[in-house]
Amino acid sequence: MTAGSNIREDLSTAIADAVFEQVKRAVPEGLECKPTLDSRLDEIGLDSLARMSVVNYLEERFQLRFSEDALYDMETCRDLIEYLEGHVGPDGVGQRAEAPAENRLREPEAPRSREILPQDCDVTLFPECVAFQHRISDTMAAGFANPFFRVKQRVDKTTCTIDGREVVSYTVFDYLGMARQEAVIAAAKEALDRFGASAAASRLVGGNNTLLEQLDEEIAQFVGTEAATVFPSGHGTNTSVLGHLFGTEDLILYDELAHNSIAQGALLSHAKIRAFPHNDCDFLERLLADVRHNYRRVVIALDGVYSMDGDYPDLPRFIEIKRRHGAVLYVDEAHSLGTMGAHGRGICEHFGVDPGDGDIWMGTISKALGSLGGFIAGREVLVQYLKYNTPSFVFATALSPANTAAALAALKLLRDEPQCVERLRNRSRLFLELAQQAGLNTGDSRDTPIIPVILGNSLKCLKVSTALLAQGIDAQSILYPAVPDSKSRIRFFINAEHTEEQIRRTVRVLLECVNSF
Ligand code: PMP
Repeated sequence: MTAGSNIREDLSTAIADAVFEQVKRAVPEGLECKPTLDSRLDEIGLDSLARMSVVNYLEERFQLRFSEDALYDMETCRDLIEYLEGHVGPDGVGQRAEAPAENRLREPEAPRSREILPQDCDVTLFPECVAFQHRISDTMAAGFANPFFRVKQRVDKTTCTIDGREVVSYTVFDYLGMARQEAVIAAAKEALDRFGASAAASRLVGGNNTLLEQLDEEIAQFVGTEAATVFPSGHGTNTSVLGHLFGTEDLILYDELAHNSIAQGALLSHAKIRAFPHNDCDFLERLLADVRHNYRRVVIALDGVYSMDGDYPDLPRFIEIKRRHGAVLYVDEAHSLGTMGAHGRGICEHFGVDPGDGDIWMGTISKALGSLGGFIAGREVLVQYLKYNTPSFVFATALSPANTAAALAALKLLRDEPQCVERLRNRSRLFLELAQQAGLNTGDSRDTPIIPVILGNSLKCLKVSTALLAQGIDAQSILYPAVPDSKSRIRFFINAEHTEEQIRRTVRVLLECVNSF
């Protein structure tokens, strides 16, 4: 055997190992999977998003890009391996994919006949449900209290009551404490008296009211766009707007850390979809240079602030890219509205960018505005179209009067007292600096009220979060599948109302807990 064939063989083994390892990781937790060459990716439980995560990893590991055509034809582990073998050179590094010849859609497969098993029609036997039950029982048997669905008996601005004990809370994204402001609560009560507990219909056909109309206008003014309209759910806004506006001739490129609702909306649209490496403008540029002309609309979808990591995109650069390549920019301002910019107007204010330079600004009313719901802001003609056509707007009951009034009152407070945004920024900076001085790994968090402390192992996170609660601090573990297991973390949402003393004590106790496991 020659040295050359040895190298090739080593490479083939490395490729196969990497593919099998990543496929195993991407399989939904609890499902048994020992992938073989002929394992079909769909049959072992990989949906499009999971597949995309495998592809993203392999692209980074072998420094290549799968061609668009090949990507949508990958059905088995063998397909992935053979593609890599054909495109990775002897140095273990790949070549960039050639531009696809055509924007081809996969032919529908011929139906395959299969035996119908009990677990195909009895919901209590669905393997994922059974596996999940085992997982919960194992966690309990290991002596951990369930870290999720912690029940609160009372909620205040920075504290809450859990199991009858008052604890300092870092688990909610009411960043400015609006949900507990007297003026906000009073406005919600008044709306209840005037309009009742529910809008009781979709806005289009009977659920509209003066509060909703006013909120539309005030959000547009605040964000700085021609128009805006509010939806009853933030998640539903992303899924439905992306799902509705884009289709099979289009391509949706979204940051790999963008919110689940963006990925779900992209899937729903039946557009071609691709996650690009987090904040990687160079990758995006190269991709667009190669593939832009194969599609009708190309969407670049980002979060204004990333909710797991507390970092944010280089917005001016994304705007430049979208302009150069004729793409549509879609930004989810859920965590940037009320937290970024001197007046909390969001990621545009932070960078001094004119919102008119972007295309679709989505946001939620459920975070810094302390209420519930989502919105779309942008050009009048687009907003008008969405109000008459987006399924989650047209076919869903409107935002409740109490929630609408609460959001209006919060917006007024934010406009009248923008210093709360500066207070939030100071508190966030204090937490981040103390955590970093203590040697804790806060990842890429900067300038935002989202501060992860990455511990890199689920078990340790569970232990630390349980110990924190015992010491009067409520902070959430973020575990697989929300983040890869090696990036498991405890996430802290800072609130403008947190006191310096609360923050100093929290970081002190956190460090003790982290060091004791
Ligand atoms: N976008 C982002 C970035 C989010 O973090 C969330 C939820 N936390 C949503 C959208 C969905 O918003 P909502 O909770 O208001 O439905």
